[in-house]
Amino acid sequence: MITPRDRLPTLDACWPTLAGPAVTVAHGAGPYENTRRALEPVDLSPARGKRVLLKPNAGRVAACGSGIVTHGQVVAAAVDAFREAGAEVVVGESPIVGVRVFEAFEAAGIAAMAEQRGCPLIDMDRRGCVEVDLSEGRAIRSIRVCEDLWGFDLVVSIPVMKMHMHTGVTLSVKNMKGCLWRRSKVELHMLPRMDGIDAKPIDVAIADMSSVLRPHLAIIDGTVGMEGLGPSAGSPKELDAIVVGTDAFAADAVACRLMGTRAEQIAHLRIGAERGYGVIDPDRIAVSPDGWQEWSQPFAAPPENLTIAFPNVTVLDNNSCSACQSTLLLFLKKNRDQLFDYFPKDRPLHVAIGKGHAELPEGTLCVGNCTINHRGCGIFVPGCPPVGSEILRAIQEGHGE
Ligand code: SF4
Repeated sequence: MITPRDRLPTLDACWPTLAGPAVTVAHGAGPYENTRRALEPVDLSPARGKRVLLKPNAGRVAACGSGIVTHGQVVAAAVDAFREAGAEVVVGESPIVGVRVFEAFEAAGIAAMAEQRGCPLIDMDRRGCVEVDLSEGRAIRSIRVCEDLWGFDLVVSIPVMKMHMHTGVTLSVKNMKGCLWRRSKVELHMLPRMDGIDAKPIDVAIADMSSVLRPHLAIIDGTVGMEGLGPSAGSPKELDAIVVGTDAFAADAVACRLMGTRAEQIAHLRIGAERGYGVIDPDRIAVSPDGWQEWSQPFAAPPENLTIAFPNVTVLDNNSCSACQSTLLLFLKKNRDQLFDYFPKDRPLHVAIGKGHAELPEGTLCVGNCTINHRGCGIFVPGCPPVGSEILRAIQEGHGE
């Protein structure tokens, strides 16, 4: 077995010494200009003659500027900068289960910018995978990584700045989860709790993944981020900022500050930094320009659980993955009032997602294949992940319509 770090050049080899700050923030000039400005202090000359993979967050079909996906113009600026440095550039993504990546590229404006520039786009799931051992893994001992990754010398993580229901935030470290092959992404959400470890298994697993799957450069898109119910059902948050850094943990830590939170409170960043995968201590990160903190705008935190966000709906969530949650969140946002045309208004509606529920109340709406064993309790909506429109259809059919 091989690891990406065996094949990809190491950070030290590729980015000898950065003259200037470890992390740069640019603000106020729009996505393309901000990205170019933030990249200015980074010496891209080691990329000459190299194959560079740009890995945006285009895991869902969502419009450019929605805060759900990376802005196409941020990716455009990265393509231009690396090409000017003499690199061959490709943009790739492995989306969440059920999403067609080229539809996602189209919606995000990435397809149009790539066509204009003749820049190849790839679906990283189209080929096989490589099993990678994680000798330092605690929650997971191996990962399956898209084989395409091995065709590249350098990997650049280009996430959009978002709060996340399960992991606090999702930034450049977590964005690398989109290099995991097909459904293996889902497995990180299905891990059992670990004895003697307070952190959630998903957070430990992301840190485990970072032991080998760390980008060489992070470009964090804070043009329009997402607050609240991220990663897909929150509210867009305009910041008009870009964060760039060669240490993904440091870049994420600075992005956290801009979002009004601290990396020390984000378990996957804290655990990864404790293991030495990057730096999150603000006193050890040089950030340019001075006064960048003035651009901070606190992002609303995600609610502790979905029931708070949707009164009168009790969401019973046991080890679900974000694909199921996103489907349910978007469904509830759109259809919550209509739901009570079918269910009594005077008592809470129970909705279950995820696996391993011991028992569910009578009448529970069971969403997703993981709840199939409880289909006798009420209405069952199949799918992995389920489709939002199917939820309403199943309810209508369950009520004889
Ligand atoms: S049914 Fe939902 S929770 Fe279960 S594996 Fe599929 S997406 Fe994840």
